[in-house]
Amino acid sequence: MADGGVMMRVRTTCPYCGVGCGVAVEATGDGVAVKGDPNHPANFGRLCSKGAALAETLGLEDRLLHPQIEGRRASWAAATETIATAFSRIIERHGPDAVAFYVSGQMLIEDYYVANKLMKGFIGSANIDTNSRLCMASSVAGHKRAFGADVAPGCYEDLERADLVVLVGSNLAWCHPVLFQRIEDARRRRPDMRLVVVDPRRTATSEAADIHLPVAPGGDTALFRGLLRALERHGARDAAFVAAHTSGVEAALEASAPFDLARTARETRIAPELLARFFDLFIHTEKTVTVYSQGVNQAADGTDRVNAIINCHLLAGRIGKPGCSPFSVTGQPNAMGGREVGGLANQLACHMELDDPAARARVRRFWRAPRMADRPGLKAVDLFDAVHADRVKAVWIIATNPVVSMPDADRVREALRRCELVVVSDIVATTDTAACADILLPSTGWGEKSGMTTNSERRMSRQRAFLPPPGEARHDWRQICDVAAKMGWAEAFAYADSSEIFREYARLCALENDGARALDLAGLTALDKAGYEAFEPTQWPTPKGARGGMARLFADGRFFTPSGRANFVVPGGRAVAAVKPDYPYTLNTGRARDQWHTMTRTGRSPTLARHIGEPFVEMAPADAAREGLRDAEIVRVISPLGEMLVRLCVTARQRPGELFAPMHWNDAFAARARVGALVAPIVDPVSGQPALKASRVRIENAGAVWHAFAVIRTEDFVRWRAPDTAGYWAKARTRGGLRAELAGFEGALESIHALVADELFAEAIRPAHARAQIAAHANAGAGVYSRALFIDDVFAGAIYFARGPVPVARSFVCEQLGRALTARARQAALLGRPGADAPDRGAIVCSCMNVGAKEIAAAARAGCASIEAIGAATGAGTNCGSCRAEIARLLPEREHVPA
Ligand code: SF4
Repeated sequence: MADGGVMMRVRTTCPYCGVGCGVAVEATGDGVAVKGDPNHPANFGRLCSKGAALAETLGLEDRLLHPQIEGRRASWAAATETIATAFSRIIERHGPDAVAFYVSGQMLIEDYYVANKLMKGFIGSANIDTNSRLCMASSVAGHKRAFGADVAPGCYEDLERADLVVLVGSNLAWCHPVLFQRIEDARRRRPDMRLVVVDPRRTATSEAADIHLPVAPGGDTALFRGLLRALERHGARDAAFVAAHTSGVEAALEASAPFDLARTARETRIAPELLARFFDLFIHTEKTVTVYSQGVNQAADGTDRVNAIINCHLLAGRIGKPGCSPFSVTGQPNAMGGREVGGLANQLACHMELDDPAARARVRRFWRAPRMADRPGLKAVDLFDAVHADRVKAVWIIATNPVVSMPDADRVREALRRCELVVVSDIVATTDTAACADILLPSTGWGEKSGMTTNSERRMSRQRAFLPPPGEARHDWRQICDVAAKMGWAEAFAYADSSEIFREYARLCALENDGARALDLAGLTALDKAGYEAFEPTQWPTPKGARGGMARLFADGRFFTPSGRANFVVPGGRAVAAVKPDYPYTLNTGRARDQWHTMTRTGRSPTLARHIGEPFVEMAPADAAREGLRDAEIVRVISPLGEMLVRLCVTARQRPGELFAPMHWNDAFAARARVGALVAPIVDPVSGQPALKASRVRIENAGAVWHAFAVIRTEDFVRWRAPDTAGYWAKARTRGGLRAELAGFEGALESIHALVADELFAEAIRPAHARAQIAAHANAGAGVYSRALFIDDVFAGAIYFARGPVPVARSFVCEQLGRALTARARQAALLGRPGADAPDRGAIVCSCMNVGAKEIAAAARAGCASIEAIGAATGAGTNCGSCRAEIARLLPEREHVPA
């Protein structure tokens, strides 16, 4: 054993967002400790709350440990044989396009590479698409139109070196927190640096900005057309660059000519003075980086938005130089890697195109492929449509949960239920998608698998294993290769380990690549197993002989188009969903700070559940008043396609006419909260990316007659079911058990509360009946009831009822769970209120340091006037920094962060 009881130290990469932070893991006899890797160039030691809680997500509860066929345990031999036989039979009868893979930005490059190789080179179809289609397909399409290749030109360092950072459609403080903290640190060092946020909502990010432009949904393209015009009119064109290195400037300028300040203000619904300030800042700040994310990509005109942004950078020559770049941040840990290998249905492999005969011939030779795909396959929305229509008869879904994340998600579920063969590879068996599977394959997860990922700045980093695969779990690449072998292609898929796959991938990237393709990994083709294991984070391209990678592209003004020039692109018209009187609100969707995707991993962490414990929808106060809705009511949000039950959050951060709901909650965590079920399957015509942020909905009071908050000790979070009387529920982990928000739509609170409590406690009481005591409190006049369960003296659960939102100190109650309590403490637990000797934290703001809103407010009242002072007094905001904007909101004189 090494020093300090450490048995193993591993440097790996975070499995969540596209920042791609390095993680240093120490395994000891007591468990696993996770810290930021100080030597990783993406984060230099920082982690956000999600990364910092990774160790809490490693348990085996609800892990899928064995293959299953039709719900029964099966051997790997039987499972892979069944898949191979069924796929082969369907291909023989109906052709290669009758099967499909739907894969994921959570897969590693090696997994992605073999999946793509099997589908496009051996099955002979391009029906492989990925959840990255939902994330950044419009950026890919925009990059290709402008640069001739899917290339992020800049790097993270540019965000620190810029004098102006413009964030468009990005709540970076919550969705890419470490990158946001890098910008914030730079602003503290250089107070003249400016931050502009373009977002319809007021967010944690916009509250830290110098200028917030609350653009109307669909107004982004108009905004950047207006900016292009203003740049030209004010002499900000880099004439030499534009003349020598670009094409199409005149057409783009002509198309933008009508976008004077008045029209731009009208189309964006931004005040002209605010627009003018922004234009002036952009025009006069040479070092500008424009960062864009899902708010740009997830739109019916997402590709046009990307090109409208890039046009401005091309005109001003702000590309390929330190501190100057348009910059797409990807949502997923390996979305970029998936783009690289060819994981999208409209790409071939390694930045080669399906419609290029020479590329197809090159890849065919390299793979010795018997049957090459020669036309694009089905993109995500079309793919599940084809499943629904029985044109695709077998689908293999790997590491993703489309029944939650796809638009028109109920139809996706229906499609899978009627599909002849659905194979799902995942780490858990309890996802909404796994419930539709005929065959379930147990995959290795973070900490168990090993391979390469690429982050948003083209930096490849290793994910490394530090745990053995649990049960019979296998790596995704191994599963794919096993099936390929049984379909008759054993030789082409005979890899000893992931390093062999990576080497083959690097060789294909380098093949006949004399600088014509951006993705050049010639410098890595000789990477042996030892070199692969010791691989240090490196940005591609890595041409032959290069020492390390390349931070920036296009410094020489040479692009990857046939002419070598970058293209200005004329964006199309304005794309806004038609307003239907029955559905008067525009529903925006996005991420919450401490959850990730469909919560299969972050949902395991009690620490992360402390921040927001249930699904919600945000609404402006004026809209709520007009609808007769009150804050914290349970509401039904309804679109023509589906509905969800969520908690209403009335907030001035939301603009009238628009709602916001998070994407994470699903049937495993709540009664009915899959926002995807409401979203229409409208896609960008160029990229095929769904418009996830502009659905038409209405909202109504769900009619709850009672509300409750419950905590209960349990070791079986997954199988816990809410009492039948609760029409609304949402559960989250807490230490030693779970917490749940409940509501009922029928019955009288006076009589029903005892029934609900009995149902809640039944499971916990069963093994300890003789030692269980239930304490009850009732205030019928106020309509407040509670019951608490003690087994011996240990607080084993409680439920608190009210006619409206339940006024109980949730953090306090959760902290008492599992504790032996004195008589006085028992009374406090029963009432759900701490006594005078135990402060109530309020809602947790800082997950890392477990500091609540009431503690922060108390510190502010005691004289702490800055975030730093609050941090010194309470610890809040001193670890990952993700909560700093929320702390600022609680300061009496709202602090401008950070200047
Ligand atoms: S910012 Fe957070 S979620 Fe994203 S990679 Fe870093 S630690 Fe992981």
